[in-house]
Amino acid sequence: MTVYTVINPATEQPVTEVAQADVGQADAAIERAARAHEAWRKVAPGDRARLLRSFAAAVDAHIDELAALEIAGSGHPVGQARWEAGHVRDVLLYYSAAPERLTGQQIPVAGGLDVTFREPVGVVGLIVPWNFPMPILSWGMAPALAAGCAVIAKPAEMTPLTAIRIGELALEAGVPEGVFQVLPGKGSVVGRRLVDHPLVRKIVFTGSTEVGQQIMAGCARQVKRLTLELGGKSANIVFADADIEKAAATAPYAVFDNAGQDCCARSRILVQASVLDKFMGLLETAVKAVKVGNPAADDTEMGPLISAAHRAHVASYVPEGAPVAFRGSAPDGPGFWFPPTVLAPVSTGSPAYTEEIFGPVVTVTPFADEDEAIALANDTPYGLSGSIWTGNVGRAIRVARGVEAGNLSVNSHSSVRYWTPFGGFKQSGLGRELGPQAVDAFTEIKNVFIATE
Ligand code: NDP
Repeated sequence: MTVYTVINPATEQPVTEVAQADVGQADAAIERAARAHEAWRKVAPGDRARLLRSFAAAVDAHIDELAALEIAGSGHPVGQARWEAGHVRDVLLYYSAAPERLTGQQIPVAGGLDVTFREPVGVVGLIVPWNFPMPILSWGMAPALAAGCAVIAKPAEMTPLTAIRIGELALEAGVPEGVFQVLPGKGSVVGRRLVDHPLVRKIVFTGSTEVGQQIMAGCARQVKRLTLELGGKSANIVFADADIEKAAATAPYAVFDNAGQDCCARSRILVQASVLDKFMGLLETAVKAVKVGNPAADDTEMGPLISAAHRAHVASYVPEGAPVAFRGSAPDGPGFWFPPTVLAPVSTGSPAYTEEIFGPVVTVTPFADEDEAIALANDTPYGLSGSIWTGNVGRAIRVARGVEAGNLSVNSHSSVRYWTPFGGFKQSGLGRELGPQAVDAFTEIKNVFIATE
C-alpha cells in the first residue's frame, strides 16, 4: 500500500499519512458507485433533498474541525478556512432545493404527448485541485448529487484531508453508501482511471490547462461528458476616472488571497498611464500592509504556498535582477513562504506577464486608452475573470462586454457566488459551474413521445 504524507505548509511538519488508492481500488469504487447510482436516482426528489439538507447540517456542525484540517493541510488562514467550510454547507443547501425542481418540458405535437425528462448522467468523477480543496469539491459534488448522480471525488494528493472528512460526514448524515465516495490517490493513477473507465459518465476537472487538455483528449475516446475549470491570467483594469484609492487598496487582495494560488487571481494590473504614479504609491502602502504569517492567527490575511516545489516554481518568475517595484513581508524560518511581490515595468512578452504563476506575484502595466486596455486584457489564451475600475457606467459596460472572460466585476473583485454561474472563456475552461443551471450539466435530456391515437 502506498501512503502520502501530508505536510503542513506553514511548518513543514508532517500532519498525517493517507493511503493512496490503486487502479484496483478505483475500479471497485467505480463499480460500487454504479450500483449506488441505480438506487440513488430512484430516491424520491423530496427525500434526496432532505438528505442533502442533512449533509449540509452535518458540515455546519463541523465547521471548526474542517477549518482546522484545512489550516494544517493547506496553510489557509483561519478566516478563509472557516468561510470555505461554510461555503460547502451553503452550496449543499442551495442545490438541496434542486431535486424537486428538476422539471422537463411538455412540447406541443400532433397525435400525442411529447415530454422531456432530465435523467442523471450516471457516475461522475470529480478531480479536485489543491488550491481550494473544499469549495471546488462542493461545486461538483452538490449539484451532481442533487441531479441523482453518484460521485467519486479524487482530492489532490497534497490536500486530501477535508474531502475525506466531508465524505465521512455524508455517510453520517444518511447519504447512502457508495453515492458519494472520496478516493485519495495520484492523478496519474486514480484520476486517469476515472477518465478511462467506461462506467464513469462525466468528469469534472479543475486544475492546470495542461492536465485539462489531457483529460479532454481522454474523455473524447468515450465521448464522455466533461466540465473543465482551468487556469487564468486575469486583468485588473484601472481607469483614470476610477476611485483610485479604493482600486489600489483592494488590488492586493484580488491577487494575493490564498497566496495567489487562485485561478481567478487578477495577476496583471493594467493602469491608465495618467494615474500610474499615484496608483503605484497607493499600491505600495497596501501591499506592505498585507498580513502574511501564521494561518491559525485571526488577523492573518495570507499564508504560505502549498509546497517547496511550488515555491521554487513561483520564485522562478522573480529571478535575480527581476524588475521588483516593491514587496510585502513574509516570515523567516520553516514554511513555504513567499512575500507579495509587485513587478514593474515588465515587457508584455515576459513569462511573468504571460504565464499563470499561481503565487503572490503581480505585474503592473500602463495603457493609454479603453481600446488598448481591452486589447491587453484579451492578449492571453486564458479568459477566466477580471476587474474593471471606472466611474463611467457606459465604459464599465463597454469594457465588460469587450473582455473575453467568464467572470467580471466592476469596481469590486468578487467573482464567485454559489448562486451565479462560474467558468472560463478560451483555454480557461469548458462549461459552467454554480448558479441555477449547474444541475443541468449533470443530466441528459430525454425526449418521450406518447401516441394518443
Ligand atoms: P494539476 O492540474 O496537475 O492537478 C489538478 C488535479 O488533477 C489533481 O487532483 C491531480 O492529482 C489531478 N491530475 C494530475 N494529472 C492527472 C491525470 N493525468 N489524469 C487525471 N487527473 C490528474 O495541477 P498541479 O497541482 O500540478 O498545479 C500546476 C499548476 O496548475 C499550478 O501551478 C497552476 O498554475 C495550475 N492550477 C490551476 C488550478 C485552478 O484552480 N485552475 C488548480 C491547481 C493548479 P494529484 O495532484 O494528486 O497528482
